[in-house]
Amino acid sequence: MSTTRDTPDDSTYLARAWAARGARAPLAPLQIARRAPMPRDVQIEILYCGVCHSDLHYTHDDWHDTLPATYPAVPGHEVVGRVTAVGAEVTAHAVGDLVGVGCLVDSDRSCPICRAGRENFCPGQVLTYGSPDRHGTAPVTYGGYSSSVVVDEHFVLRVPRNLDLAGAAPLLCAGITTYSPLKRAGVGPGSKVGIVGLGGLGHMAVKLARAFGANVVVLTTSPRKADDARRLGAHEVIVSTDAAAMAAHAGSFDFILDTVSAEHDINSILALLKLDADLTLVGAPARPLALSSFALILGNRSVSGSAIGNIRDTQEMLDFCGRHGITADVEVIPMQQVNEAWQRLERGDVKYRFVIDMASLKAD
Ligand code: NAP
Ligand code: ZN
Repeated sequence: MSTTRDTPDDSTYLARAWAARGARAPLAPLQIARRAPMPRDVQIEILYCGVCHSDLHYTHDDWHDTLPATYPAVPGHEVVGRVTAVGAEVTAHAVGDLVGVGCLVDSDRSCPICRAGRENFCPGQVLTYGSPDRHGTAPVTYGGYSSSVVVDEHFVLRVPRNLDLAGAAPLLCAGITTYSPLKRAGVGPGSKVGIVGLGGLGHMAVKLARAFGANVVVLTTSPRKADDARRLGAHEVIVSTDAAAMAAHAGSFDFILDTVSAEHDINSILALLKLDADLTLVGAPARPLALSSFALILGNRSVSGSAIGNIRDTQEMLDFCGRHGITADVEVIPMQQVNEAWQRLERGDVKYRFVIDMASLKAD
């Protein structure tokens, strides 16, 4: 059965969600409006949604100068669920399909960047939460801490059927955000790859880099994570506060991916790179990082950034994970425990991604 509407404003419906009403307000239940599916839309019953550190940064207004928060804020951009309705022109998805939605729900689709298949850099991109809502259903888009969502089919991904659904949810952000720069750097057999920070993104990066065939080294501030790092696929672990251990690896890495969510010293990390090699930042701390020119100059090194990944690569990553049986290590929680989970995430107390079981919303 399909449900379509001709115009964006002739109908909306109410969905359950949890929202923050201010930068330091706890998340609490809220009914939100969603648009009824339009011809190219897919309506999804959300089954699981991962908890990304970006949910905290955004909601706490850490990124005020770049992406100011609007309240109520409904976070969540690691969505998996089941299709419940499709618009008349939808061809890629059908009712009953298992699908995913990541950080993007729209882009202008016509600019040179979109035409090059790089929607994640489109100036007109619409983020899953916190972007102006083009359909006028709400002031801004509302994310996946919700019972359902309606998304243009281009931004809806197919989730391989063999993957555990809760474990697959974090692939939609943590997975693609690490897959994309690892792929771009060409890591594989023979390359020594460093992953800085063993959290949600970091543990996915370890699994993916290992599956690419690289020699994987975790750089962590948490010695207690060393055994987990090896279990997840690391060949070696360096405690980054151990100056002697860092010095022993100086100039030896082909590529390093930095997933750290807070201010930290990147100059000591740059010293680990080989001549001409690159450190890519995906972590997005609230404040700027200090960069020593000499850390770059003396080894002809570079530091770069990477934003999630495009839609084509996101599907490629999901299919890769399906073939290799890769999912996140998750702690599944009911929505009613989300505030405690956020506090634990801030303390680094998570192994290695919280995922909300959306069936718990029915208890509100
Ligand atoms: P997370 O699960 O909290 O992991 C962050 C890890 O960083 C921690 O587990 C910890 O690892 C390390 N860390 C935390 N504080 C630190 C400090 N003060 N000094 C050194 N290391 C510290 O967070 P996440 O969900 O993986 O997200 C990581 C970052 O990526 C966030 O800033 C998020 O907003 C950003 N992000 C960016 C993109 C993008 O497109 N670029 C997409 C998604 C997320 P150890 O205990 O191992 O040291
Ligand atoms: Zn994220």
